[in-house]
Parts: sequence; C-alpha cells; structure tokens
Amino acid sequence: MGLIESEALVVRTVDVGESDVIATLVTEQIGKIGAVVRGGRKGSRRVGGALEPVHTIGVMLDDKGTDVATLKEARIVRLRPNVVSDLGALEAAGIALRWARHLFPARHREPQGWEVLTVLLDVLDVPPPVAAGALWSRKHLARAGFAMLAAVGYGMDLDRCVVCSRPCPESKPAYIDPGRGGLVCRSCGGARQVMPAALRGAARSLAAGRVEDVTDSQAESLLAIVDRAMAAHAGFER
Ligand SMILES: [Zn+2]
Repeated sequence: MGLIESEALVVRTVDVGESDVIATLVTEQIGKIGAVVRGGRKGSRRVGGALEPVHTIGVMLDDKGTDVATLKEARIVRLRPNVVSDLGALEAAGIALRWARHLFPARHREPQGWEVLTVLLDVLDVPPPVAAGALWSRKHLARAGFAMLAAVGYGMDLDRCVVCSRPCPESKPAYIDPGRGGLVCRSCGGARQVMPAALRGAARSLAAGRVEDVTDSQAESLLAIVDRAMAAHAGFER
C-alpha cells in the first residue's frame, strides 16, 4: 500500500465519467490491479498514449487498499512497435493479455506469469524469420498459454493421468480433459477428447521452445486445448 512503482501492462481500459479511465493493469510488483486514470481518455496529454496495451509501461500508483488504486504517472518503458503493426502479432498479444486478465488473481504477484507475458510480447515484436509461416505468432501464443497456466498453478500434465498418476507412453494417444488439468486414463473414465501421440509431442516441442517443430494444425489444436483450460480455470468463454 501507499505509493507503488512498478512496470506494468495494460490489459483493459474502461471509460468512466467525462474524462476518466479505469485501467486494469498487470503489474510486476503487485500483480493485477485496477487503477483510476484521471483525465486518461484517449488523446489525453497526461498519460500520452501510455495506456496502449502491448507496451511495457512504468507506473506510479497510489494504493489505499481499496478496489482500485489511482494512477499517478505512466510512461512507456518498452515500446513494441512491431506488435502494433503486425496484425497476427497484435491479435496474439491481445489474446494473451486477455488470458492474463482473467487468469491472474487480483493483488497477487505473479513473477512467472509476468515473465511469460513480457517474453511473449518481446518475441512478437521481432519480425518472424522468413520461413516461419503464417501461424508463427499462434505457435508462440500456444507456448505462452501452457506456460501461463503453469505459472498460476494450473500446469497441464500431458505425461500421466491426473487422477491415478499412471504414466502414458509417449507413443500412445491419450484422453485429455483440459479442465481437469491434463490426461485422464481409460480406467479413470477417460475423456471426450483424444490427444494423438504426435500432438503430445508437439506440446513437448513447444515447452522446450522448439516452436518450428510444430505444424500449423498442431498449433491450432494446442491452442484449443489451452482455451478450454483457460475457460475452465478462469471461468470465461472465448
Ligand atoms: Zn488414471
């Protein structure tokens, strides 16, 4: 409480009254928090575009422990111009920030989650390698999705049954229930969705940072799994 200085990302802004804005911030120091920005409407000189979502900003917050703090100062400390100018990157960034907004608990520092988010935004800000393919940003988004779930304690177990802990051989397809956190073996009732062995391999490649080993369709399937897990844990629909 009191004055807090932190790096932050804007995950949502809502206009209130004549000229104010309530910004939902994910901060490095105190996690997710709402902040009133007096005179913060778009075009306001005072915060000068610092409320754009994909850039890392430095904020000074006056936190009295109530629902929302007051934003005293904001300035961009890490500009990400390429994310803003590349539609695929911008869309991926938007989805990741939305995940964070729903998934991260209020006023709870999430150092690992912060790291996942900022690293993703940095990756998206670098123009993709020539041979990367159209879904390059979606692959990085899928990777970040799994990492973000793990960061807040909802890591997906794709190696063993989440009920009885029996390991599933890498070469076998497996039932997966993203809402329950991973694989559910046949003896434990299975699940509606089957995850082919190759897709489990793709998830391992993502986790290891080998994004180029994942095909476009695998990336989309993995994103669908992440989405279902996010929906189950964060209680929101896409
Ligand atoms: Zn089992």
